[in-house]
Amino acid sequence: MAGKRLPPRSEFCVFCGRERKSVKSMVTGPDDMSICGDCIDVCNAVLARNQGPAGPRPDAARLKVPKPHEIKAKLDEYVVGQERVKKVLAVAVHNHYKRVKFRLAGKTADDDVEIDKSNILMIGPTGSGKTLLARTLARILDVPFSISDATTITEAGYVGDDVENVLLRLIRAADGDVARAEVGIVYIDEIDKIARRTENVSITRDVSGEGVQQGLLKILEGTISNVPPQGGRKHPQQETIPINTENILFICGGAFVGLDDIIKRRVGKGVIGFDSEKEQRKRLKARHDVHSVEPEDLVKFGMIPEFVGRLPVVATLDDLTEDDLVRILTEPKNAMTRQYQKLLAMEGVKLDFMPAALRELAREAVRRNTGARGLRSLLESIMLDAMYEAPRQRGAKHYVISEKTVTGQENILDTQPLPKEEAG
Ligand code: ADP
Repeated sequence: MAGKRLPPRSEFCVFCGRERKSVKSMVTGPDDMSICGDCIDVCNAVLARNQGPAGPRPDAARLKVPKPHEIKAKLDEYVVGQERVKKVLAVAVHNHYKRVKFRLAGKTADDDVEIDKSNILMIGPTGSGKTLLARTLARILDVPFSISDATTITEAGYVGDDVENVLLRLIRAADGDVARAEVGIVYIDEIDKIARRTENVSITRDVSGEGVQQGLLKILEGTISNVPPQGGRKHPQQETIPINTENILFICGGAFVGLDDIIKRRVGKGVIGFDSEKEQRKRLKARHDVHSVEPEDLVKFGMIPEFVGRLPVVATLDDLTEDDLVRILTEPKNAMTRQYQKLLAMEGVKLDFMPAALRELAREAVRRNTGARGLRSLLESIMLDAMYEAPRQRGAKHYVISEKTVTGQENILDTQPLPKEEAG
């Protein structure tokens, strides 16, 4: 039987082995050998690093540090609700970059108070805006931003990625400019999924939990980390990119399902024997929610104490209400309905949403319990036929999304503007 034939040499990157079709760009040189754009970025980063004893430093002057109220105002343009979280983040991010600027300017604080690095933990249900907040912060600060999923990282010796891949993503987001990456923001999603399973130290090795937390701990604290340029696992003889994580802002996010029960138990324990039963219940109700989370609750949940210690800023997000969801559909600068209106306007098609339709979309998203994420998938399926037909249609069209369109009783292509337009 014939074996699998290798693609011609010009069709894959001789550095990382990926094929032409799975990379953005590829350069082919003599002897038909090719290298992909990502590996070129990494090579540039290695060369830049080797230019001087410490390599180029990030430019302190280039780093703008907006005031907390300015950061909050910008967040308001993109993120609906979550008022307290936006304030907490605005202050934390302002302080972080103020400290970074101070350090980059070469000022040392030997006779002064050293300001600790404050990474951030965001706790909130899925689709409530955690990733959006982190991404928007990076946009406001104009720094590189990357997202990693904690569940893809595993301890050495198991199938998966080394923790350094989190940093590789950031270097790629900075187009290989390590100095810029060193002041970037890293969002690590699903951090609750690497909780250790029991509070007791396990005798068997916990593949997905404690080891990964230990690994992440190092980069969160601030260290010179050696990143394998091709991703995956490090090899002993491989050239690595050194990156200093001291000034990188790490934001971790997770839903932490069950954390409220842990808090309830803690709060409950403290009051027995003192208050009347009625008072107890009142106090429990007021304080059992995730807003009153304490580090010990996170440890009970399965995060190791050192890890919790490295995330001193904790921001808890609220479940989005039906009203929030209606606002999300229309208010943010890049609101979903506005995006569709703009896309269709390019084809000469007018699109309107009736208020009742927006309300029904929000109601359905609440039913699905996937936060604003549900809105996107709902809208996508409603809009599909129009998005498919619009580019080949001739002449002006006008679609009006009503409650019926949302509930599926009417196809978008059959909708018509009302005689007296009530559409919003
Ligand atoms: P999470 O990270 O909490 O699971 P995301 O930030 O990924 O949720 O939200 C998914 C999408 O839903 C976002 O891209 C955004 O369009 C929308 N969204 C979620 N929360 C909000 C919010 N509070 N304000 C505006 N849009 C939101």
